[in-house]
Amino acid sequence: MSASLEVKDLQAGYGAMQVLWGIDMQVQPGQTVLLLGANSAGKTTLLRTLIGLLACRGGSIVFDGERIDGLRPDQRIRRGIAFMSELGVFPTLSIDENIALGGYFLAPARVRQRREQLFELFPDLAKKRRDAASTLSGGQRKMLGIAKVLVAEPRLLLMDEPSSGLAPVFVKQVIDVLRTTITGGTSLLIAEQNVAFLALADRGYLLDHGKVRASGTRAELEASDAVRETYFGL
Ligand code: ATP
Repeated sequence: MSASLEVKDLQAGYGAMQVLWGIDMQVQPGQTVLLLGANSAGKTTLLRTLIGLLACRGGSIVFDGERIDGLRPDQRIRRGIAFMSELGVFPTLSIDENIALGGYFLAPARVRQRREQLFELFPDLAKKRRDAASTLSGGQRKMLGIAKVLVAEPRLLLMDEPSSGLAPVFVKQVIDVLRTTITGGTSLLIAEQNVAFLALADRGYLLDHGKVRASGTRAELEASDAVRETYFGL
């Protein structure tokens, strides 16, 4: 069952450099929320702080009503949060092995069952299941990255730049796959530079130099001067 996320006044950074300067944001159960921002805006830093790979230096993160900012990444994963990094997969491992890793905290029988369900959704992957992920095309690797995080049926999925490195035709494929595979059971937070992902979003936030510059519904963001300035220099 999908779950909510509530972030208040979040601060994070690397060494002496502060990157996030008091982020407030929310994801309601079952919603898809887009985190837009140009290069270096702080999107990856925010996702890494939410999953616990980077320490939260101030503020709070509440998942499904529970404060989680003091928990280790594995404790957050066990509560139902999944993180898809920009790379998404382990290139030297096979497709089967990548999917098995995504289900690390599940019972082996459940992983096998979920894997077969996912292969029905991603037939191209099923055909190459014993091959290394490095043999896949860029678009297929993204599909594997998505399958790898979906195997655990996350309640909240954090996705970092699913469009990175992809030609426009594959970006459209990724958007279509996300539209059909993410069901109401998963809340989704996607960090992206590509405004095309607004098509999937219920709501969104525009991040700029580690601060939220604009937020609102998809329609509000599409009409937002801040988004236009950031993306089109108007
Ligand atoms: P991109 O699309 O380029 O990944 P982003 O919005 O995800 O952009 P971040 O990767 O979060 O941005 O980077 C925010 C700032 O933090 C940048 O100034 C970046 O140089 C810096 N930064 C990122 N990772 C590190 C790190 N491991 N050590 C030090 N500084 C870092």
